[in-house]
Amino acid sequence: GAVLECRVRRVAACGGWVPVARSQVGQLRARQGAGNGGLLAVVAALTARDLHAAVRPSRLSLRATGWLYAANAVFFVGRAVAVARGTEVVGPVNPDGFAALALLWWLCMIVAVTLGMALMASERLQDKLDRQASRDPLTGVLNRRSFAILAEKAMARARRDGQPLSVLMMDLDHFKEVNDWLGHRGGDDILCRFAGAANRVLRGEDAFCRFGGEEFVALLPGTSADRALAVAERLRAVYAEEAAVAANTAEPLPFAITVSVGVAQLRAGEDFDGVLRRADAALYRAKAMGRDRCELAAAVLGAPTGGAGRAEPRLHGEG
Ligand code: GH3
Ligand code: MG
Ligand code: MG
Repeated sequence: GAVLECRVRRVAACGGWVPVARSQVGQLRARQGAGNGGLLAVVAALTARDLHAAVRPSRLSLRATGWLYAANAVFFVGRAVAVARGTEVVGPVNPDGFAALALLWWLCMIVAVTLGMALMASERLQDKLDRQASRDPLTGVLNRRSFAILAEKAMARARRDGQPLSVLMMDLDHFKEVNDWLGHRGGDDILCRFAGAANRVLRGEDAFCRFGGEEFVALLPGTSADRALAVAERLRAVYAEEAAVAANTAEPLPFAITVSVGVAQLRAGEDFDGVLRRADAALYRAKAMGRDRCELAAAVLGAPTGGAGRAEPRLHGEG
């Protein structure tokens, strides 16, 4: 009898623990639910921040998806608070108010974020295609086509603002020999080094383009001919230094790797082909005078647009 009584008491005692345990599990679940909600809110907020930090003005998909994640972060905070305060019963299928709303929200979000991701991928691909269409694959600088578009815009701006605009026409010296001595791959490396030197010497607003083969052109807005000549000289020196490093092979080259440059400032009434032609003529003169030098173009009719109006040397004695 005593043994039975003792067993009954034990069972009763255990039974007394069941509701306590149940409430403990419930609290644990609520805490877990709130914790999960909080964690998701942090992840969503970080994703939103990253997407907004990566924003480029034209990237609508990035911005829109960023805002979606930001809205999600707010939603998860709300959910975490609701769960922590016990307003919501945690469970995947709960037809009551907030949980049902949450499910609806989730469905919309999945659709919207998937759309955003697809748009981002397509915009990225578009960027890549644009880049491929506008850049030289070897050196990564502008190609002739995109440079021409930029040049037209820069010329229009220079005319409107009465600012000077100068052009550098560059041709690497003895490049056939460079290829003969260093191989075609070595020649390619030298071409890239020249582009690198130009990128370092030129300013952000200048445009630099591979015109073809070992010929390059730079456009310097707001720069008069004499200042452009100084830039050309600096580029010539930087390139010579850079090329000497590359040419430091087991068998030293019997010549220096250099560049010749023709410089011309845009004149009133002149079109882009006109100023390029004069820069090219100056380049030709630099070659004829022994290479590894910069020459200023002769002027043709019309005062320079903007600048100090410094007189350029004249070729045929006109004016
Ligand atoms: P100059 O001093 O008169 O300019 O002599 P040059 O040998 O540089 O002139 P030319 O125009 O006769 O030769 C240009 C050489 O540039 C010929 C060509 O093989 C080489 N070249 C053109 N494009 C590339 C390229 O993409 N890579 C390499 N490695 N070489 C190139
Ligand atoms: Mg050439
Ligand atoms: Mg050449």
